[in-house]
Amino acid sequence: MRIDLVSEHASPLAALGGADAGGQNVHVAQLATGLARLGHDVVVHTRRDDPELPERVRTAAGVTVEHVAAGPPEPVPKDDLLPHMDEFGDRLATRWAEEPPDLVHAHFWMSGLAALRGAAGLDAPVLQTFHALGRVKRRHQGARDTSPPQRVPLEAEIARNADLVIATCSDEVAELVEMGVPPARTAVVPCGIDPDRFSPAPHRARTGRPHRILSIGRLVERKGVDIAIRALAAIPDAQLLIAGGPAAPEFDRDPEVLRLRAMAEQAGVTGRVVFLGQIDHDRTPELYRSVDVVVSVPWYEPFGTVPLEAMACGVPPVVTAVGGHLDTVVDRRTGLWVPPRQPAAVAAAVRELLARPDWRAELGRSGADRVRTRYGWTRLARDTEAIYQRVRATGRVLSKGAAP
Ligand code: UDP
Repeated sequence: MRIDLVSEHASPLAALGGADAGGQNVHVAQLATGLARLGHDVVVHTRRDDPELPERVRTAAGVTVEHVAAGPPEPVPKDDLLPHMDEFGDRLATRWAEEPPDLVHAHFWMSGLAALRGAAGLDAPVLQTFHALGRVKRRHQGARDTSPPQRVPLEAEIARNADLVIATCSDEVAELVEMGVPPARTAVVPCGIDPDRFSPAPHRARTGRPHRILSIGRLVERKGVDIAIRALAAIPDAQLLIAGGPAAPEFDRDPEVLRLRAMAEQAGVTGRVVFLGQIDHDRTPELYRSVDVVVSVPWYEPFGTVPLEAMACGVPPVVTAVGGHLDTVVDRRTGLWVPPRQPAAVAAAVRELLARPDWRAELGRSGADRVRTRYGWTRLARDTEAIYQRVRATGRVLSKGAAP
């Protein structure tokens, strides 16, 4: 198949080049590579954010990345990209008139807008993966949500007009159904990880003291790092390592870092909290392997790669029972679930794991097995391919551009 992926702000080249890239860059890069490996002709369309970028790049993995001129050729925050999506869609339409794809798969809501516009005159089905939903973000972040106000109604429209919405977890499917998408027009393919890079240490069961607890991820309030800091006050003989945050020199003046430091002071745990700063992604497997427990307790989580990485490395995560965690972490089999925003529950869960090293090792082994068998990209690319074939066999559900 000729498969065209649209990822307006998250270029797969950032992820493949090892630069600092978020979950969507990695997802699109891995999916494109996996599909190319299965023999498909894969093109990824992403916004040109630098005048020096060539129009077309062929990666070592056999994927073509095309840089679409839409808006200024410079970095633009994604919350400011909406006004450029019509232009993006029109460029896609021109491109696809020359070389029509067999199928289009858009990533993130604004890519969905551009893809549906670009594919309006084509027979190719358009599939959508949101990665995160505006309505969930709005529910949890309220006035602090910086997305454009049109996001929520436009997402509902995209969801209704796409031939299929591929969610990354079952909790997202429930949200989509509430948005009016029939369950039969949804499918789930989770995010994956590379099991060759994230694997357990050959000899496990760390016995050293103090215990080491890891929190890793972007330092933004909704990730709940403050909850982990407050929990530490009730976990004796343990250190909390916090990885993530902006690169130096911004780190020391970052408002969230300052807030977390004040929180540690207030909780009386300053001497037991270690801010590691941003860790190069290639170095994260060894960091996971060096700790006893990982804590990932966001208020909400569209997917959550960190618990998967922890499990893959044989370390049980303590996670909030929200979003993607409900699918990825099996409570008391591969990790522990806790309610959101409850430091006492986090402390109790961590203490239980630290007190029972044999059980901890057993959970670690089950977690590593679970990730290896279910979340490798080779399998996820095959699952996605099967969905693509099913949609092509069924034909297009809606004509593009039809009124919802
Ligand atoms: N990460 C990293 N270095 C850091 C902090 C985070 O490599 O200093 C990586 C982490 O290993 C994970 C990703 O960033 O792969 C975070 O993904 P997740 O889905 O947990 O959260 P998101 O940032 O996408 O909301």
